[in-house]
Amino acid sequence: MTKHADPIAIARDLLRCPSVTPTEGGALNLLEGVLNSAGFTVHRMTFSEPGTADVENLYARIGTSAPHLMFAGHTDVVPPGDPKAWSHAPFSGDIDNGVLYGRGAVDMKGAIACKVAATLDHLAANGGKPKGSISFLITGDEEGVAINGSPKLLKWAAAQGEKFDHCVLGEPGNVAELGDTIKLGRRGSQNGVLVITGKMGDVAYPHRADNPVRGLVKLMSALMDEPLDKGSHKFDPSNLEFTSIDIGNPTVNLIPGEARARFNIRFNDCHSQVSLRTLIERRAAEAAGERVRWQIDWEPSNADSFVTKPGPFVDLVTGAIEEVVGTRPALSTTGGTSDARFIKDYCPVLEFGLVGQTMHQVDERTAVADLVTLTSVYRKILDRYFV
Ligand SMILES: [Zn+2]
Repeated sequence: MTKHADPIAIARDLLRCPSVTPTEGGALNLLEGVLNSAGFTVHRMTFSEPGTADVENLYARIGTSAPHLMFAGHTDVVPPGDPKAWSHAPFSGDIDNGVLYGRGAVDMKGAIACKVAATLDHLAANGGKPKGSISFLITGDEEGVAINGSPKLLKWAAAQGEKFDHCVLGEPGNVAELGDTIKLGRRGSQNGVLVITGKMGDVAYPHRADNPVRGLVKLMSALMDEPLDKGSHKFDPSNLEFTSIDIGNPTVNLIPGEARARFNIRFNDCHSQVSLRTLIERRAAEAAGERVRWQIDWEPSNADSFVTKPGPFVDLVTGAIEEVVGTRPALSTTGGTSDARFIKDYCPVLEFGLVGQTMHQVDERTAVADLVTLTSVYRKILDRYFV
């Protein structure tokens, strides 16, 4: 009988690495060791950018021919908060009653462990070599600003001549049970600040001043009133939320000279960043008329919306999940952004990992049984991909 790789042991080892962004914490060293022993060629890259912390990354590949399947993920985690609030220490890798606890258990060291274990088993069953290529593209900068992580890693790989056919990213997109959801797209995200300029003055003499608060309220309600679109085939309607109103005026009898409001838009594939900005600015202009002096400061955004087209790869992954868990996953585009937004420029990407319920929370955890099931799903994907 063949001895199987143990995803639980790998997951526990990874969880014991305190790899809070941007710290490597030993997690990439661990993966480097395991993948090296399995015959992968492993590259370690540290990327830098002025004003941001240096971040370590890993790229490992086995095989030289097509097809090339990339397993992508991140070993960095968000801070655990107060460790005393946890029922099991956040970097202990404790298992209690069939549940594995730890920061990163679902987001997403658990899924990385499952991918590694599935790959080791697949290789062992196929004479140590894939019928094509398998790579691991693992960043330490997903939970942070995502500048010295996947974007640069993908660019570096492309410059080396690496060509990817498909990618499975291990974000925890399952909602309630393992196998209920595949993410095949993401909404885009765009931040902006609405700035209204008025004229400062005494509240007792409003005719000598121009209160920007009036204009702010008017433009804010105009931007909130009308939906941005009706949603698309694959996406819910785009949504604009104001997150802060900033006037900062401590004086009771003073009309302020300026008023600002911050907002975030999560947008679907009805829009590009440009079309979205144009739409918002047109609505603001209409509401402002001749009276209100306004501008919108748009923050740079690296999060466009995208959706992976249906086809054989989506069918392959869907089928693998269905065969292992017994039910067909929903194809979803909900939730926040992920590194899939960078990967999609290089190859079609799907996201499938653990159940996301406890991600970023105190007592982040996964059922040990889910790690076993997820490893079987990844193994099935590999077996079907490399026939
Ligand atoms: Zn994540």
